[in-house]
Amino acid sequence: MWTVERPVNDVNTIRSYSPGTPERSGLEEELAHLQAAPLEIPCVIGGREVRTAEVVDIVRPDDRATVLARAHLAGEADLREAVADALRAHDRWSRTDPYHRIAVFEKAAALLAGPRRTRNIAAIMLNQSKNPYEAEIDLAELVDFWTFNAYYARQIYDLQPFQYPGETNRFDWRPLEGFVLAIPPFNFYSIGGNLPTAPAIVGNVSLWKPSRAVVLANYEIYRVLIEAGLPAGVVNFVPFPSARAGALIDHPDLAGIHFTGSYRTLVELWKRVGAQLEQYRNFPRIVGETGGKDFVFVHPSADVRSTVVQLVRGAFEYQGQKCSACSRAYIPESLWPAVSRALADELPHLPLGPVDQLSNYLGAVIDEAAFSTIDGYLTYARDHPTEYEIVVGGETDRSRGWFVRPTVIRSRTPRGKLMEEEIFGPVLTVYVYPDDQYAATLDLCDTTSPYALTGAIFASDREALRLAEERLRWSAGNFYLNDKPTGAVVGRQPFGGARRSGTNDKAGSIVNLLRWVSPRNVKENLVPPTDWRRPFLG
Ligand code: NAD
Repeated sequence: MWTVERPVNDVNTIRSYSPGTPERSGLEEELAHLQAAPLEIPCVIGGREVRTAEVVDIVRPDDRATVLARAHLAGEADLREAVADALRAHDRWSRTDPYHRIAVFEKAAALLAGPRRTRNIAAIMLNQSKNPYEAEIDLAELVDFWTFNAYYARQIYDLQPFQYPGETNRFDWRPLEGFVLAIPPFNFYSIGGNLPTAPAIVGNVSLWKPSRAVVLANYEIYRVLIEAGLPAGVVNFVPFPSARAGALIDHPDLAGIHFTGSYRTLVELWKRVGAQLEQYRNFPRIVGETGGKDFVFVHPSADVRSTVVQLVRGAFEYQGQKCSACSRAYIPESLWPAVSRALADELPHLPLGPVDQLSNYLGAVIDEAAFSTIDGYLTYARDHPTEYEIVVGGETDRSRGWFVRPTVIRSRTPRGKLMEEEIFGPVLTVYVYPDDQYAATLDLCDTTSPYALTGAIFASDREALRLAEERLRWSAGNFYLNDKPTGAVVGRQPFGGARRSGTNDKAGSIVNLLRWVSPRNVKENLVPPTDWRRPFLG
């Protein structure tokens, strides 16, 4: 049997783009090249490029007059055709030798890590408004998803039942029967690439509905997959308006939904599936990773400087648009003066602007809807001055792109809108607690928000770390001691949360891949019986 070596994370070898490096000049060229003329993006159905009458502009969030691409949207008839093509591809792909299936994704990973890297980094930066570092870790995560999923798939195929004298037993590791609908969010390119391909690596076929704002970055991934030899129809690239999703969700051959996005959207999808369960050939598998109200909890024994640095990175990198971003913090009274002073000194100086100016650390939020939602929370804070105080930030600017300055808001009450709800932008709400109320405030943290995605505790006192880990056991699916709650790495910190944060199927792990297989057990009787009588009959 062929073996797949235990992979090494690509994130360990990300490029720096420091001034004077060759990768920096290559990136600058690619950034200019991508903006020279809008790319036309077709739907790709059964290997055919399909152009439709419905075309939308894909723009830069931090320079919205720049049109990067024009994307063709699939109509209902196109979606029905895509399902038919996917089901046709299922027969061959599901029987393809796993070696050859997996090799496609290993090749895609090698292309992305090497010759296609710079173009994809440029596409992520411009389409998602990420600085080069954020774009690199995002791309590296997709390389990791593909290489680690290759490894985990091989582990699954090695899992076999026990044998017994006179019989042999096998698992035939079938994929699901039907097609998988992949619906990724806007914020991670890597999730865009992982959702349709994690099922495909174990033999499924999928339809990929990229998020409207980032069709270009997702399409660049799709091109790499095609170059790597992914057969026609296995993954179909179909941007379409969300209101049209019923054409796929109502289909009797829907075998699964691989979703990442907001809680509300998952609820909507799940209800629609639940309402018509009897129409399906199989129970559709639903894997859904959703939002968070991720916390940093600071104990009085914590180091102030590293707390401040981790808050800046954990709450504001990529403009706070990470599902894992810290959006509430609990700070003891004794440390608040020093922490708030440092935040007020440093946050106004974080360079913010168009990301193709490489001196900028922060870019824009993704689109007008996100900008308005975040602005609505800032207005709410201003309208409730007895409850909230804006400590730093609060400014917005929509003239060129969707810019929001990093903002820290102090909440005088431990609960309430800004301590409970996901804002998904560069807004950190802080509750300052009495030092002698550490344990009680841990319980408050656990019960304040309906989400349970990520969380972190900062302390040098070992008992404080232990107690937080114990009391906050159900508060986060990814928990960090003295580290920010963002930046999970495939294979090392498998990612996902519970409660309203999703089904916790840990993307990029064997747990996730197991959701996309439906094993058939095959027993062979080596010595079939010749008499029906049981011994007790005498
Ligand atoms: P969203 O829910 O608005 O959209 C997610 C995807 O669903 C998009 O592709 C969108 O077009 C599609 N969609 C929306 N309504 C739909 C419908 N009715 N039918 C079919 N498709 C529909 O989320 P978003 O703004 O793209 O992403 C941000 C959210 O994603 C945040 O809540 C964030 O926390 C979450 N997120 C979670 C994780 C995680 O691993 N837990 C990772 C990244 C993002």
